[in-house]
Amino acid sequence: HGAEGVGLLRTEFLVLGRSQMPSEDEQASYFIRVGTRFTGRPVVIRSYDLGGDKFPAPLRPPQEANPFLGWRALRVCLDRPEIFRAQIRAVLRARAVADVRLLLPLVTQVEEVRQTKELIAEAERDLTRNGTAAGGDLPVGVMIETPAAVVLAEVLAAESDFLSVGSNDLTQYTLVVDRGNARLANRFNALHPAVVRMLQSVAEAGRRTGKPTSVCGEMASEPLAAFLLLGLGYRVLSSAPTSLPLVRWLVRRVDVSAAREAAAAAVAATTDRDVRKALERGIAPYVDLRLLDG
Ligand code: PEP
Ligand code: MG
Repeated sequence: HGAEGVGLLRTEFLVLGRSQMPSEDEQASYFIRVGTRFTGRPVVIRSYDLGGDKFPAPLRPPQEANPFLGWRALRVCLDRPEIFRAQIRAVLRARAVADVRLLLPLVTQVEEVRQTKELIAEAERDLTRNGTAAGGDLPVGVMIETPAAVVLAEVLAAESDFLSVGSNDLTQYTLVVDRGNARLANRFNALHPAVVRMLQSVAEAGRRTGKPTSVCGEMASEPLAAFLLLGLGYRVLSSAPTSLPLVRWLVRRVDVSAAREAAAAAVAATTDRDVRKALERGIAPYVDLRLLDG
């Protein structure tokens, strides 16, 4: 579909349905396989985002009243360093042969990034000491998918190499709407004014710090939302493979200054409906709106 790299390689799928955590070797060979398919292009490997709705048998899920607010993602990795270490070592081994990068999910504290970087430095030293090929200078990115990360985006940017907005969770945690709850499906809307303003603020943080800032999650696969993101200044979008052709077509078709104008109107809007109207008005000269109705 013409992808220029991989924006989000979800590693938890290596674990689900298995009775044991995947070994370092197994992960390394998988990351090398994907990395070398995209020679010269970045492959962003996301560290395990376990917990929430994805708890594999080997980790023995704890009973929690609110799993999405609980022991999830980077929290699990930092509490179980033996699991995280194997993954980090596998990524470093792949880095020796491909442009792989590491992305950290559900960050809410800058210390989480610092601790991860310490684990990376330690793993790099161990691998080198044992004569195993490991790539240095592993770029480490932070997912902006909690309101805390939005507010701290500049601080997190200063501590990392790139930012990637996780629009699914950012929408869920901002609007307090469970992303999997069918009853609330009409309230789960990335084009809510609060989310739009957060996206603007993160784009601004990326510009101010000079750190590459991209968007992943379902939003980047939807044409109208992609038009907004373009207008807010995002230049790297990570889409589902099946949506890539449509998003690429749209990005080539629209005028960036029109997107910028529409994004400014969307940021000023105070209701979901007005955000959508502003974007539809801006995109209408380029795209038949009936094409965007799913
Ligand atoms: C997101 O939250 O937008 C994201 C890309 O991560 P996931 O959907 O895997 O939680
Ligand atoms: Mg997420």
